[in-house]
Amino acid sequence: MIEELKKEKKILHFITNLPSRDLISIATLKKIIKGYFNNILHPEIARYLHPETRKYKRKVEAPKKIFNYILCMFAQRFGIFISEPPPPVVRVEVVRGCNFKCIMCGAWKFKLKFLTFDQVKYILHYFRSSWIFLPHAIGEPFLNKDIYEISRYAHYNLNFLIDISSNFSVINPERALDMGAYEIRASIDSINKEKFFELRHGNFNKVKENLVEILRLKQKQNKIYPMVSINTVISKLNIDEIEDILNFGLSLGVRRFHWITLSDGHLLSKPYDISLEDILNLRKILHKYEREAAIKFLSFRGDIVGYEADGYCFHAFQIPSIDVEGNVYPCYRVLGDKSSSFGNIFSEPQKVFKNRSLFLRKFRSSPPEFCKRCELYYRKPGVYFYKSKIFKFPVFRQPIRF
Ligand code: SF4
Repeated sequence: MIEELKKEKKILHFITNLPSRDLISIATLKKIIKGYFNNILHPEIARYLHPETRKYKRKVEAPKKIFNYILCMFAQRFGIFISEPPPPVVRVEVVRGCNFKCIMCGAWKFKLKFLTFDQVKYILHYFRSSWIFLPHAIGEPFLNKDIYEISRYAHYNLNFLIDISSNFSVINPERALDMGAYEIRASIDSINKEKFFELRHGNFNKVKENLVEILRLKQKQNKIYPMVSINTVISKLNIDEIEDILNFGLSLGVRRFHWITLSDGHLLSKPYDISLEDILNLRKILHKYEREAAIKFLSFRGDIVGYEADGYCFHAFQIPSIDVEGNVYPCYRVLGDKSSSFGNIFSEPQKVFKNRSLFLRKFRSSPPEFCKRCELYYRKPGVYFYKSKIFKFPVFRQPIRF
């Protein structure tokens, strides 16, 4: 029994640690395949799993999805195309516009616009072999009144893992817990009210109230999922507060944190960006907290790689982005710039997939100008935050219930 419980713990750790974008890696592939064959060879193990864990494990280890993942990995890593590689992740901008006014994001400049439930349903049917659905891009997704229904449909009908980020100002904690999401991230760049306002022009008290409430309800309902985590975009304005944010989250029961660098893009900018040295100094904090929380570092920079894949741009191969009008882009960076789009999925779906295929096949030999100029086009910087010696396997402690 103890042995079985240990196995459960291992599997749970694997699943809860599967970050949305950590998909194109041979190590991840090995873990998934091993899990799949363990299922076949040792079906009795499943009996000891928490029902929620069992459910997610089944979704992650579906043979068709594993196969598609392998296709995608071959294309990104080796430039080999066995057939068209469907993306493991799809991002859909369910809302254009925002009620906050973050200094690094241009979403607030737009009048609110939404994709309806039926439109998202239509889009997702083209991505049925993908694993993860990110129903957010450059705006606040919970401003879309259909978001709960969209997420439930994507999860329960199409077997997607849903990973959603929010500014937590308009989220309904009760409905959010019931939307079939795998992870819900609260964007918190400061816990100081004034600083928070300076960075995001939003009300920190409201964000905190909603975060406390969702965690309280989750505990009351004894749920493992959705994981509730904190997303922090690190800049010179908040780097001295990172430890305070960690302690704030830990005191509320959050055990998963995402540190994200600033990024350039058509609707994004990098004000007060930090240096590589600043980032490397953060490892000391990571080391201090590694036993209490999972801390994921995601880099949108050319000089350092986080937990995402290195080599040729992983966004291009993994995460196409679809805007609120249905235009499909290679990545989040060019979202909104129609000249970089593959076409519109509502009016010309065939053209979209043909253009995406051409784009990927020519990605190494003749990438488009916007990729040539992009610092993520090819990355082998030799500086790896996640893969450094000390932090190769960050320890993650999520309360485990049997
Ligand atoms: S290399 Fe191209 S596809 Fe990749 S992030 Fe940059 S612009 Fe997007």
